[in-house]
Amino acid sequence: MTEPSSDDGSTFRRETERVVNEISQGLRTLDAGAGWFSGLAPTRQQEVLQEVAGYAMQAHITAADGCAGVARSGVKPTANPSVMICMDPPRYGFAGLPSAEHVKAFRVLVSVFAVADTRRREMYCKGDCGHAWHDLPTATE
Ligand SMILES: [Zn+2]
Repeated sequence: MTEPSSDDGSTFRRETERVVNEISQGLRTLDAGAGWFSGLAPTRQQEVLQEVAGYAMQAHITAADGCAGVARSGVKPTANPSVMICMDPPRYGFAGLPSAEHVKAFRVLVSVFAVADTRRREMYCKGDCGHAWHDLPTATE
């Protein structure tokens, strides 16, 4: 076996990045992504939430993006992760939520990232940019 171990942190971060960007770019459904997420160990889930919160910060999400993301996430607007992301400025302490709320936090964070990153792709990238994650290979089943 020459495959890298699944305990390899950088391999896992790349997997997270791929899943999140596939969802953002419509190559994978949010439900499928949430299924991937819920199969992870609790400590991995916290790592993913921190990682995706970092993407959301880099994408400069606004409170309006937060609310637009919540609306498409399938999570109730009154749930803790929804309330946090709609604050101005948004709160990002999702990894500190009880583990029962991690899947909701994942759905909210990825949806909000998708709102902000889609805007960035459409306004600034125009299909030709240096963002490696905007040039994903088309998914093959
Ligand atoms: Zn780009």
